[in-house]
Parts: sequence; C-alpha cells; structure tokens
Amino acid sequence: MHTEFSPPNEWRDDAACKDSDIDFFPTGPYDSPERRQSEMEALTVCASCPVRRECRAWAMGAPEIYGVWGGLTEQERRAVVGVG
Ligand code: SF4
Repeated sequence: MHTEFSPPNEWRDDAACKDSDIDFFPTGPYDSPERRQSEMEALTVCASCPVRRECRAWAMGAPEIYGVWGGLTEQERRAVVGVG
C-alpha cells in the first residue's frame, strides 16, 4: 500500500496502489539491485493505474520528493524538478 498516500484529491479513491502491499518508498542507493527491484514492482502497479496522469501531476506540483508516484521513480522526478 502507498502508506504515505495523502494527496487531498478525489482521484486517490481510484488509485491502483490503494490496497497494494508493494513498497512505494524504497530506500538505499539508487543503483542497488534491491531498490531497483522494489521500484520496478511499484512501477508495474502504476503502469495500469487509471489515475496515473493525475497522480504524476500532483507529485510534480507538490513536489513530492520521495517514493514512486505517477509512474516515475524518485530519481526521475528529482531530475525533472531539479531537486538534488
Ligand atoms: S500512479 Fe502509481 S503511485 Fe500514483 S496512484 Fe497510481 S499506482 Fe499509486
């Protein structure tokens, strides 16, 4: 489950991660196999999420720095918004 999933948006009711046990906040070095595996599992859930576009827009606008949101990893979003 996306345990820190708290955007005040109605679209979260339709989130594919709402009842998931997948870890959307993997930790450790970006290039570690364990982290990459966790991110891939989360991204797989995002890939079929009906509110991916809304989620991504919210995460980029917040900006939400940690975790997988809207089909993007933490590292991918940081690169776009320019947060180190
Ligand atoms: S796009 Fe991913 S993180 Fe966002 S609501 Fe959907 S499953 Fe959850």
